Amino acid sequence: MLPKVNIAHLPTPIEALPRLSKALGGPQVYMKRDDLTGLAFGGNKTRKLEFLLADAKTEGAKTLITAGAVQSNHCRQTVAAANRAGFDCILVLTGEKPLNPTGNNFLDQFMGADIIWAGGGNREQVLDSTFTEAKNSGKQPYLIPYGGSNTIGAAAFAFALKEMLNQEPDFDWVLFPSSSGGTQAGLVAGQKMFGYQGNVLGISIDNPAHELQERVSVLASETSRALGQEDEFSADDILVNDDFLGAGYGIMGDPELEALNLFARREGLLLDPVYTGRAAAGLIELIRSGYFTTDQNVLFWHTGGTPALFAQPYLNMLLAGEIAV
Ligand SMILES: *Cc1c(COP(=O)(O)O)cnc(C)c1O
Repeated sequence: MLPKVNIAHLPTPIEALPRLSKALGGPQVYMKRDDLTGLAFGGNKTRKLEFLLADAKTEGAKTLITAGAVQSNHCRQTVAAANRAGFDCILVLTGEKPLNPTGNNFLDQFMGADIIWAGGGNREQVLDSTFTEAKNSGKQPYLIPYGGSNTIGAAAFAFALKEMLNQEPDFDWVLFPSSSGGTQAGLVAGQKMFGYQGNVLGISIDNPAHELQERVSVLASETSRALGQEDEFSADDILVNDDFLGAGYGIMGDPELEALNLFARREGLLLDPVYTGRAAAGLIELIRSGYFTTDQNVLFWHTGGTPALFAQPYLNMLLAGEIAV
C-alpha cells in the first residue's frame, strides 16, 4: 500500500440536510464534510497531501513546491501541511502580490510561505525555473502538481470512497466540484475497486466536459494501476456536467450566490464561492429540472474552500444583495 502521513481528521462526517432537501422538494440530500479535514480550514487537498508528503519524505525532500491561483485552496493546505510535517514551502502564484491579502492568500502569507509571484507571465515557466533554482541551491525540492492531481494524490480519493461506503453504502449519487480532476479520478478508481453501485458525478468548474472526462479517465486508469488494480477507464465512463461554468473560473454569479445563501440559511452550512458554490448551484438546478427522483439519496461532497468567503471581491458581493431563498 502507498505510504501516508497522518494529518487529516478522518473519517469526515456525513450529515443529512433535511431543511435544504425539503426546500428543494427533490431527493434527500446529504453532505460529506471534507471541509472538516482538519488542516488550516480543511478541504479536499488535505487527503491528497497525506500521500504526497509521505512520498516527499521517501524521496528525502526538504522543500515542497507547488503552484496555483491567488485564492488557491490547494496552496493554502500545502503550506499548512508543510509546516505540520516539517518541510519548507515555496508557492508560485498567478498575478501580482495583492496590496491587502485576503482569504487563502492571507493564510499563505500568515503561515510563512515563500511566495513567488508569476505576474502576467507564464506560471508554468516560473514554476520550472523556481524548481531548478531550489534544486541547485540545495533545498531538495519536491514538486507537487497543480491541485495535487497525480496518481499519488488521486489515490487518496479512492480511499475516501471506501470511507464513505463504510459509513453509508446506499447513496444513489455522489456529486462534487471537479477541476484538476484528481478528486474525481480517485473516486471513480475507488468506485471500481470497492464496488460502489451509485453514480459519481463531477460538476465541472472550469473545463469543457470532454476535456475533463478525458483527463479524469487517464488519471483514474493510472491511479488504479498505482493501487495494484487493473481497471481501465475511458472518457465515456466519466460523468461530468459542464452546464454551470458561468462566466469562468472564480467568477461568482447569481447561481452561486443563491446556492451559498440557501445552504447558509436553511442549514447553517458554508460553501465557497468558487468550487462548492458552483457545484451546489448545479445540484439545485438538477433537482429543479427533475434529474433525480424523490426517492433517491444524493451525497454532496463538500470539498472545502471556505476561506475564499473572506476574500475580496466575494465578501462584498455576499453582503451586497438580499436573496430570497
Ligand atoms: C481543488 C478543489 C476542488 C477540485 O478538486 P480537483 O481534485 O482539483 O478536481 C474542489 N473544491 C475545492 C474547494 C477545491 O479546493
